[in-house]
Amino acid sequence: MSRQATPKPLPRADDVRLPAPFGQFIVKVHGRCNLACRYCYLYEGPDHTWRDRPAAAAPAVLDRTAHRIAEHAAAHGLRDLALVLHGGEPLLAGADRLAAFADRVRGLSPEGCTVHTTVQTNATLLTGPRVATLARHGIRIGISLDGGRPAHNSRRTDHAGRPSWPAASRGARLLADRHPDAYAGILTVVDPDTDPVEMYESLLELRPPALDLLLPHGNWTNPPPGLPPTGPGRPTPYGDWLVTVFDRWWRTGRRETRIRLFEECIALLLGLPGATESLGLDPVDAIVIETDGAIEQVDSLKSAYDTAAATGLDVFHHTFDDALRHPGVAARRAGADALAAACRACPLLTVCGGGHYAHRYRAENGFANPSVYCADLERLVRHVAARLSDATAGDRR
Ligand code: SF4
Repeated sequence: MSRQATPKPLPRADDVRLPAPFGQFIVKVHGRCNLACRYCYLYEGPDHTWRDRPAAAAPAVLDRTAHRIAEHAAAHGLRDLALVLHGGEPLLAGADRLAAFADRVRGLSPEGCTVHTTVQTNATLLTGPRVATLARHGIRIGISLDGGRPAHNSRRTDHAGRPSWPAASRGARLLADRHPDAYAGILTVVDPDTDPVEMYESLLELRPPALDLLLPHGNWTNPPPGLPPTGPGRPTPYGDWLVTVFDRWWRTGRRETRIRLFEECIALLLGLPGATESLGLDPVDAIVIETDGAIEQVDSLKSAYDTAAATGLDVFHHTFDDALRHPGVAARRAGADALAAACRACPLLTVCGGGHYAHRYRAENGFANPSVYCADLERLVRHVAARLSDATAGDRR
């Protein structure tokens, strides 16, 4: 816990109603990675907190984390919670260790609370026995790839510069062929320089049950790659890329795979609650536990500035209710109240929600700005709305 301030319990405020509880616990079981992707914001970005943390979470950290999660689930009567085993590369901790930790959280959680466990991996370390171990312990496996071709993944290399694709694609196919029930899906960061339809179809060949299309982390101070300067009528490369994939996905007439960003956008347009950090006004319900037991906000904040995700709390001295009271956590969960005036006045507010919190950052004034992707998000939301409107009129071209 080398980076923690002197740990002290936060003042109790039992008369103050707590915000909605956390439902997603992202546990850094291993804090290093066997790859060195050239765009990695965790190890190459402005945040350096990882350097002072242990590589792997010690057994005492994992055990305390399991107790804290169970405590939160009991205190709030959670019927479901998501446990995400993360890194770095979590499989560096060993499949047996992940399985034991998942079992521990499940065993301590109150009766009636279902623990949904996933591991998010770069897929290079997936072998038959490891996948079998994870599947046997009820752990679903999500993989991160930049596409379904070697060329798409050319920036995903190991520390010696060797391509990760041969091992990663082998891992992905193993999962699809032998353990489809344990296959959670693929997470891909959008690269507007790729052909969107070719990229989407290449990913489909790996038979993911779901796709997460993420915009690369960036902000007004450090703009994402290829984003033109802002101004009226600026090009929208990310929005254009996404609407092309949307049309390819929407017009198929059958569900080839789920795409969370699009499904959430449709739900929000229909007035239903959304459950993604990238859209909507619902409070983000995720909290991170680092390898030293520090309780932190989500990793994406680390793309803004050094220590941006820190709270000064840790599982040895603080509960997750303490984290709910933390001002930084509260700000990120404050919905429209935390948004810039331009967003609050925007007709797309309830669907876009100002976009991802980390993408609003500007060094001069913090996070009270529209998303750096504002024009791209507007392009996507208006396009999906138009397609929905066509569909309700009976036209699904
Ligand atoms: S980021 Fe842009 S599109 Fe989204 S709510 Fe704010 S002003 Fe509207």
